[in-house]
Amino acid sequence: MRADFDALAQIGATGNGGVDRPSLSPAHLEARAWLRSCIIDSGLEFRSDGAGNHSAYLPCGSQGAPILLLGSHLDSVPSGGRFDGPLGVLAALEALRVVKEQGLSLPFHLEAIDFTDEEGTLVGELGSGALAGTLALKALDSPRGGRQALEAGLQRAGLTEAGIFSAQRDPTGLAGYLELHIEQGLRLMNVQAQIGIVTSIVGISSYRLAFLGQAGHAGTTPMEDRHDAGLAASVFNLAARELVMREFPGCVANVGQIHFSPGAFNIIPARADLALEFRAPDAPILDRLEGALLARARDAAQQFRLELIYEQLDRVLPAEMAPVFQAAIREAAGQLGLKAIPLASFAGHDAQALAPVCPVGMLFVPSVGGISHSPRELTHWEDCVYGANTLLNAVIRLGGKNIKTE
Ligand SMILES: [Zn+2]
Repeated sequence: MRADFDALAQIGATGNGGVDRPSLSPAHLEARAWLRSCIIDSGLEFRSDGAGNHSAYLPCGSQGAPILLLGSHLDSVPSGGRFDGPLGVLAALEALRVVKEQGLSLPFHLEAIDFTDEEGTLVGELGSGALAGTLALKALDSPRGGRQALEAGLQRAGLTEAGIFSAQRDPTGLAGYLELHIEQGLRLMNVQAQIGIVTSIVGISSYRLAFLGQAGHAGTTPMEDRHDAGLAASVFNLAARELVMREFPGCVANVGQIHFSPGAFNIIPARADLALEFRAPDAPILDRLEGALLARARDAAQQFRLELIYEQLDRVLPAEMAPVFQAAIREAAGQLGLKAIPLASFAGHDAQALAPVCPVGMLFVPSVGGISHSPRELTHWEDCVYGANTLLNAVIRLGGKNIKTE
């Protein structure tokens, strides 16, 4: 697994310890091709689907048994780290190799899967959403990364929009989905735990907002006569922070992009476009936060005599991890003598897309300094191995449990 990890980290390497492999970029396609040959070299069956998901398949159950999916993603954010995604894919692949070498039979078949576009440089949880049938058509019409980028990426990968939806699987054929991932936070490090047992994944909602004002001469228009869209964007950004900190503990909000048009030193901004994203631990709170944020945006528009338009881009509901998966992870970690603690995930993961159709579970390993989505992302190798061993042992333990009813 170490050799695989190091080889994969070379693809799209940025020279400062990170990788730059946005979804369906040439570097990401190279990583996918590498995985494909790695699967074939391991003597496992290679499978792919219309959404570009790549898998290693190991028939280790009886005929007609459902498939337990293990996996993660090989795409990265722009200038991201080596561990976010690849660790889960390679640990899943390693688990299949061990089960194959040991000739174990389980009540399910195993599939190690690399989901397409988890990070959302194009759409976000694209491959997992397509497989689960939870991907909305709208997500492709108005994707986070823009239509052009999506079309170009699909073309590079030889994929089509119609093909994406053909990746949907019958849920009765799925025993569940289990993923190893880095924590991307500090909670495990803070208590010196090696394993995080994920209890739920927060819900995430994203919006595009635009304040519409009037362009004007930046010198000759009196301050009180301006319809300055830039001011509303600034006020809203600060108001969103204060709102969450005062009234929504346990939630987060982010304005990740503000674009002023026409965009010049001497022109009053006629339009400000904002990218807004916010997260909450359960659906009712996500709804309340959404209402409160939009009210703040309307207030900002009114204050500066502007029009406000907005559209929701995506809404991923909070996902509960199946108790049977949490138990298997806890028991596996205990058996290996590792300290494991329960925690919620504030980052989105493919398990969210799959949660509506099958039982899902996740385990985390510590992130040094809590740093992620950065070339400085680091998980000590021994923790990676602890995570992979816990994943493998949890899979074997799941073999002794009744996943669908426990
Ligand atoms: Zn990830």
